[in-house]
Amino acid sequence: MKPIPFNKPFIIGHELDYIADAVAQGHLSGDGGYTKSCHRWFEEKLGTRRALLTHSCTAALEMAAILCDLQDGDEIILPSYTFVSTANAFALRGAVPVFVDIRADTLNMDENLIEAAITPRTRAIVPVHYAGVPCEMDRIMDIAQRHQLLVVEDAAQALLSTYKGRALGSIGHFGCLSFHETKNIISGEGGALLVNDERFAKRAEIIREKGTNRSQFFRGEVDKYTWVDIGSSYLPSELVSAFLYAQLEHADEITAKRCRICTAYATQLAPLQQAGKLRLPAFDGDSNGHMFYIILDSLDTRTRLIAHLKAQGIHPVFHYVPLHSSPAGLKYGRVGSGMAVTDDLSKRLLRLPLYYEMSDADTARISSAIQGFFSL
Ligand SMILES: *Cc1c(COP(=O)(O)O)cnc(C)c1O
Repeated sequence: MKPIPFNKPFIIGHELDYIADAVAQGHLSGDGGYTKSCHRWFEEKLGTRRALLTHSCTAALEMAAILCDLQDGDEIILPSYTFVSTANAFALRGAVPVFVDIRADTLNMDENLIEAAITPRTRAIVPVHYAGVPCEMDRIMDIAQRHQLLVVEDAAQALLSTYKGRALGSIGHFGCLSFHETKNIISGEGGALLVNDERFAKRAEIIREKGTNRSQFFRGEVDKYTWVDIGSSYLPSELVSAFLYAQLEHADEITAKRCRICTAYATQLAPLQQAGKLRLPAFDGDSNGHMFYIILDSLDTRTRLIAHLKAQGIHPVFHYVPLHSSPAGLKYGRVGSGMAVTDDLSKRLLRLPLYYEMSDADTARISSAIQGFFSL
């Protein structure tokens, strides 16, 4: 039988034409026409003050960490159940990641645990919108305001999800997006920093341009450019931006298709949930169909189900090793709450294949393979 991979990068429109056009125009370094078109798209569609493309979400998180002006020993509060970069970007600045547990329903950082983790050294809260499902942003922004903290949304999985009508990534002081090939909208590697607070916009441009005021120079605001701050090279090539812009032209269609795949899985697997064999994600009409996962009753069931599916050519994956128990997490971070939910669910969660070109037949084959496993 034809294998079903976990993920498959795809082309949907003018990706290759736009790359050819960028070559023809003779501008392949950063901040050409395609990058600017992407910036405008994010600013208009998401309602952010300033969008800046980066070469990854990791890079956007690193920029946000620099903009938070952290000193050695300052602390940030984040979930342990997340991708490495959420913590690493801040550890690079000498900050201490303080991990809190997640909610059992959404697998997002438990907003009720944040205040108890705040110390005089806390500078920022970094919520992660897991699977594109929004964190409780009203509560988080309220806590941040009362304690004078910055909020960096890790919206790597959350492009085009909303919270109370507002785009995820546009609510905190900063939002970080990813266009890695496993995300909804892709450019191979790629990301964006959303600067939602005007106060940080100018410095963000400088940090992204190797610590120089080159962006101002190109706009004719200064007559030469020079080294003015710390920074790095965070901007993508026009080749990447050209590919990305072609995907953005189809962003709503891509999102709708992924949501349909999630709905198909949820419908087909509902009987197994009713029979108490597994738990399905708490569905939310405002999310973007980024991920479909199931939660099994034990690590052992998960291990056996993976083997059962792989034998049929179906490739599910699990993640994450909770950061509080990872070697670098133990070295650079600490826990700010109990970790019972993270420790438990990370052993039992399984992500099913989900990519733009999946067919109804693929989803049906995966669902019946899972049903087959449980009636063995
Ligand atoms: C994918 C992901 C990242 C990293 O994105 P890159 O673009 O690969 O750097 C960061 N955080 C979360 C939650 C992610 O899912």
